[in-house]
Amino acid sequence: MKTITHWIDGKPVEGTSGRFGPVYNPATGAQEKQVAFATVDEVDAAVASAKAAFESWGASSLAKRTAVLFKYRELLDAHRDEIAELITAEHGKVHSDALGEVARGMEIVELACGISVQLKGELSTQVSTRVDVASIRQPLGVVAGITPFNFPAMVPMWMFPLAIACGNTFVLKPSEKDPSASFRLAELASEAGLPDGVLNVVQGDKTAVDRILEHPDIEAVSFVGSTPIAKYIQLKAVEHGKRVQALGGAKNHMLVLPDADLDLAADQAINAAYGSAGERCMAVSVVVAVGDTGDELVGRIAERAKNLKIGPGNDPASEMGPLITREHRDKVASYVASAAEQGAEVVVDGTGFSVDDHPECADGFFLGVSLLDRVPLTADAYRDEIFGPVLCVVRAETYEEAIKLINDSRWGNGTAIFTRDGGAARRFQLEVKAGMVGVNVPIPVPVGYHSFGGWKDSLFGDLHIYGNDGIAFYTQGKVITTRWPDPADAGGINLGFPSNS
Ligand code: NAD
Repeated sequence: MKTITHWIDGKPVEGTSGRFGPVYNPATGAQEKQVAFATVDEVDAAVASAKAAFESWGASSLAKRTAVLFKYRELLDAHRDEIAELITAEHGKVHSDALGEVARGMEIVELACGISVQLKGELSTQVSTRVDVASIRQPLGVVAGITPFNFPAMVPMWMFPLAIACGNTFVLKPSEKDPSASFRLAELASEAGLPDGVLNVVQGDKTAVDRILEHPDIEAVSFVGSTPIAKYIQLKAVEHGKRVQALGGAKNHMLVLPDADLDLAADQAINAAYGSAGERCMAVSVVVAVGDTGDELVGRIAERAKNLKIGPGNDPASEMGPLITREHRDKVASYVASAAEQGAEVVVDGTGFSVDDHPECADGFFLGVSLLDRVPLTADAYRDEIFGPVLCVVRAETYEEAIKLINDSRWGNGTAIFTRDGGAARRFQLEVKAGMVGVNVPIPVPVGYHSFGGWKDSLFGDLHIYGNDGIAFYTQGKVITTRWPDPADAGGINLGFPSNS
């Protein structure tokens, strides 16, 4: 069986722990690979390599760093299909969706190619007589990233390209469920000319994560994953004196006003709720139907939901693939049953689904799509992040009731409003408590040069990821005040606090 290894100091490292995690093909349910789990010593070796590499990489010119990044972008472009295939084979999402993930990750590489402009700094001349002040930003040193299963290429690319463009060196701990994409991204970076040690990948579980959080030579940690682990990461990283940004889970609401184009809203609800089998932190998981839109909207969503083509991700006809594991599939399915018991109306029941036209997929981790209407706010299906193809609809009499409901949610990642009323949309943008807002856009994932991040239990830390916040996160500011006296100046003693004149 193929073993996915670490990537340390510019080469594959098999590891010595004797501990491995299973890597499944979710479409067939078969374990096709295993991934090595790092020991503390292997994490230490990756950090030591990154620390040694920082000596020269951190001091290297912007021209040198960006030359590597431009080459890297070229290689990613040439290998995008291959990376997407790796993602589909381990995550299960359909090939077109995997290609989209690679493209969105590459946006950050493209942003990193332009780092010279972003790191220009500021200069004020003659702030006092013959005194100039410059503000510059410098790298932190060794930084680390810990990433989730649902975007095995994009989320790592939210982190390391900007971090290394800023002059840091990086240790990545990808999800153990679909680790091949990260390994391949590191290999390609090396091929692009990235010096050994600048980007390391340690595969593994809690042992590796905890060592990263405790390691005295790691300056900052970026994390993306579920809310309970994000909270843990933030607390432990801070306890060990590190800068941290920890992005957590979500429950994204899509508000539909009575004046909305209901066909557009139904199409977008389908795309955003069931794309990638609902395993997206920006998936729409609740539609809030305002006024009398509910019955009509639910009817249109149901009609579309029943026609979705579910199958293996490598079949171009499939629109939705399987879930990540059997356990997760069963847990997601249990929310449909519990919602019915707790008072919701099951309009479309996706449990018990099987793929008929692919015999090799009989044991795959498939689940059909479910649509739940009139879901009580007390039901588990409304309160928990399900992270699967289950869409809840709740009804609200008025806009005020709808926005209160959204703002009362413990999460605040993304949200969207569907309306033709510009005034209502504007009010929503200002009033809603979430980090990313869409107006007639269901999945408002910001482009690379704006930052991504939620509010409330969707983000722990201050700075969002990528964009300007990403650059701020991976650098520290320095202000330099210089005086070059005119040869005619006299010095003189003055113990007073420096003031400008
Ligand atoms: P997860 O929290 O289980 O795992 C994320 C990472 O943490 C993995 O690398 C994993 O190995 C590690 N980890 C897991 N348990 C740990 C523990 N006890 N101690 C230390 N490390 C641990 O998340 P997941 O299931 O891989 O991903 C899905 C979750 O990620 C969802 O909640 C989703 O909303 C969230 N997510 C959020 C965003 C965002 O931008 N806010 C983006 C993608 C995914």
